[in-house]
Amino acid sequence: MRENLLSGPEPDPARDAGHRDAPPRVGFFTDTSVCIGCKACEVACKEWNAVPEDGMTLTGMSYDNTGGLGASTWRHVAFIEQPVPAGRTELPLVGPDTGGDGTAQGGADASGMRWLMSSDVCKHCTHAACLDVCPTGSLFRTEFGTVVVQEDICNGCGVCVPACPYGVIEQRPTDGRAFKCTLCYDRLGAGQEPACAKACPTESIQFGPLDELRERAALRVDQLHEAGVTEARLYGHEPDNGVGGDGAFFLLLDEPEVYGLPPDPVVTTRDLGTMWRHAGMAALSLAGGAALSFALPALTRPKGRR
Ligand code: SF4
Ligand code: SF4
Ligand code: SF4
Repeated sequence: MRENLLSGPEPDPARDAGHRDAPPRVGFFTDTSVCIGCKACEVACKEWNAVPEDGMTLTGMSYDNTGGLGASTWRHVAFIEQPVPAGRTELPLVGPDTGGDGTAQGGADASGMRWLMSSDVCKHCTHAACLDVCPTGSLFRTEFGTVVVQEDICNGCGVCVPACPYGVIEQRPTDGRAFKCTLCYDRLGAGQEPACAKACPTESIQFGPLDELRERAALRVDQLHEAGVTEARLYGHEPDNGVGGDGAFFLLLDEPEVYGLPPDPVVTTRDLGTMWRHAGMAALSLAGGAALSFALPALTRPKGRR
């Protein structure tokens, strides 16, 4: 019997959410080493989901125009300019096993600088605090193991926003309702892959059963290490991390913080049970103390005066 469904390894979140005969859990493996920063994923997401524009000006820091995910940016391509790691002079041209064209980022130009590009998205956490705290059921776990927010049920209370350890979900200022990536739930139901993965020309965004993606990602890291890209590492793939593993995980070429990702995220509802227990004990102690303060004078008063 499970003791705590709010944290720890969780092999089948869809079944635990009540979906009998759920299909295999699906998700994203985003291989940032082959992202070329074309933003086709951002555009495809906006077109398919009719997401409104989110500011048409550049931030001035890079080719970025939103700076991060938000209510109207469900995919966000980060552009990071940095010096090439010491000892690296050439770009290793190694492509993913999935038929990519072999282009890879991370190499130096004449200035000794390089671009890191990464398409960020909701992580569709195994333990999704946004869903745990939602009072209306607007956020729910689908039969595919993904986390979806329903815009017609959201009441705009906003409690999901601080609950997300990645800062993904956000309220839209125009009406207060919360929005984020749905992992194209409508497309999955029709047997199609999500729009962003379909549009990505380099297969940086790979969609499929999570177990398969994890195997593919491990092979890709080995391939990059053999090619000398020793800084390649996976982020969010371990089922025993602070959120029980991400449904959308990444191959990065630097520390997560460089991409604006938290290094060690933890589901914010992990300690909810303990907190309620402590609050209950505190309430009991208070009630006991109050009862005693009334009872003691009566018990200790001289007999004749009772
Ligand atoms: S990343 Fe945030 S918004 Fe997405 S499922 Fe996890 S807790 Fe919810
Ligand atoms: S899965 Fe669909 S909703 Fe999510 S980022 Fe991709 S296109 Fe947008
Ligand atoms: S479509 Fe693919 S290559 Fe283009 S920015 Fe998005 S993830 Fe990168």
